[in-house]
Amino acid sequence: MTLQDIIQMDKEYFMNVFGDRIPVCFRYGKGINLWDLEDKVYYDFLGGIAVNALGHCHPKFTEILKSQLDKLIHTSSLYYIESQAKLAKTLIQNSCADKVFFSNSGAEANEGAIKLARIYFKKKGLTHKYEIITLKNSFHGRTLTTVAATGQEKYQKPYAPLTPGFKHVEINNLEALKEAITPSACAIMLELIQGESGVNLVTEEYLQQVKKLCDENDLLLIFDEVQTGMGRTGKLFGYMHFNIEPDIFTLAKALGGGIPIGAVCAKQHVASAFEPGDHGSTFGGNPFACTAGLAVMDILLNDGLIENAAKMGEYFKTRLQELKDKYSIINEVRGKGLMIGLEFTSDISKEFMKKLFQKGFLVGSVGTKVLRFLPPLIVTTEEIDKLVEALDKILGSSQFTVHS
Ligand SMILES: *Cc1c(COP(=O)(O)O)cnc(C)c1O
Repeated sequence: MTLQDIIQMDKEYFMNVFGDRIPVCFRYGKGINLWDLEDKVYYDFLGGIAVNALGHCHPKFTEILKSQLDKLIHTSSLYYIESQAKLAKTLIQNSCADKVFFSNSGAEANEGAIKLARIYFKKKGLTHKYEIITLKNSFHGRTLTTVAATGQEKYQKPYAPLTPGFKHVEINNLEALKEAITPSACAIMLELIQGESGVNLVTEEYLQQVKKLCDENDLLLIFDEVQTGMGRTGKLFGYMHFNIEPDIFTLAKALGGGIPIGAVCAKQHVASAFEPGDHGSTFGGNPFACTAGLAVMDILLNDGLIENAAKMGEYFKTRLQELKDKYSIINEVRGKGLMIGLEFTSDISKEFMKKLFQKGFLVGSVGTKVLRFLPPLIVTTEEIDKLVEALDKILGSSQFTVHS
């Protein structure tokens, strides 16, 4: 099939929630490269939106998946599952959590976290505590409840009435948070770096104060690490940059390296609120998905990928900072590890993304001003140099010549 055939078929049969997509279809991938139907090569600096941490078709990873496919794919949670037990163990041994539950996606992991926070207080007899405070411009998923948790009106408006019990406050604004805390509050849920709304970071001071407020008001602290987890920020989990441990954190995106799996991770006293029958999933944590998760954890921890993410992230930011010094149209470069945003002073990020695409580089554009980079954690300095060179060329071309 040609690209035009595929686009036509998509338009005819697929619900139009994605609008006009970027006009390309990939046939295969290797490392950070993807090849389209005409064998044009691309450098993938978006990594399937932070999913392909290992790059495309990592040889060790696909080998493990292939051999698992020949053995067993699904059995159901009526029975014990070896890879599920093992993945649970490795996540617990490498984090502050004591127990885990597997879902199929980030939204579902967050649903699980929200349910866990509510049932925790119910079972303590504190039935009036149900409200969850999240941040404005957050993103927690697309189910009705996670849309309610998400602090962005555009996702909420079409679906009202939403699940009740959510309040949204401005990021890094302690006073707003204090005001939002009432006796109904049961938890504060936040992303350490807001990915979907433009790579916005919570400050260390803010987080320290949030933790303090949680302790003082008997609130659970929930980190949505769906995007910041799994080595993305240069540490295995984002919270490890701070001297703060959440009561619950969620994972998904890179956890299965492209095979759908999410996780709710919690401290024992919270996790024990879930008793038989309280929660569940048909696919969640099946043998195949957990084999993928186990392989991802193994490769991340043993092949130096997290260290590489930290190192390459620093290098990448330094190179982008050089561009900022050269072109005044760049307002800011920010991020941690390989979760990086480049903000322009004007609304050109979409146009810029298209220009990079034409040159064979895949990046993200959030809002109207921010380019977002989430390359696989195996990225090298040579590959970063190629992207920076392309950015430099576009910035230097007539359209964007605003030298400082
Ligand atoms: C992507 C994302 C989600 C949603 O994950 P899905 O797998 O698409 O449901 C939730 N929270 C954050 C922070 C995300 O980046």
